[in-house]
Amino acid sequence: MEDCLFCKIINKEIPANIVFENENILAFEDIEPQSPIHLLIIPKKHIATINDIEPQDKNICGDMLLAAKEIANTMNVDSSGFRTIFNTNEDAGQTVFHIHMHFLAGRKMKWPPG
Ligand code: AMP
Ligand code: ZN
Repeated sequence: MEDCLFCKIINKEIPANIVFENENILAFEDIEPQSPIHLLIIPKKHIATINDIEPQDKNICGDMLLAAKEIANTMNVDSSGFRTIFNTNEDAGQTVFHIHMHFLAGRKMKWPPG
């Protein structure tokens, strides 16, 4: 999608520190990290929010979780722990309307989140 920041990262029009890439998924460092490790795992297909996911996207959604698993293993935080979050629309504070899984690790997390 033309005016989407994350589509521009996928198309390498905007730089990012990419840590993982496969056919359907890209993962890169968040520009404003909230923990020692803060990545964004995104589908290469433009989907604005979870509300816009269609049944035919279910493989892509599964691929996002499999990417999280692989990244956790590679970064050696699978046992210590990590947090994965999707923000959707205003109340959750979504600012970029291309779905992304926040992947946070490297410190003890609080619950409930703010
Ligand atoms: P959300 O608020 O859940 O929509 O998350 C959007 C995230 O994108 C925030 O954590 C931002 O710090 C991050 N972000 C915004 N612009 C960039 C960028 N150019 N590269 C990497 N991360 C970004
Ligand atoms: Zn997009």
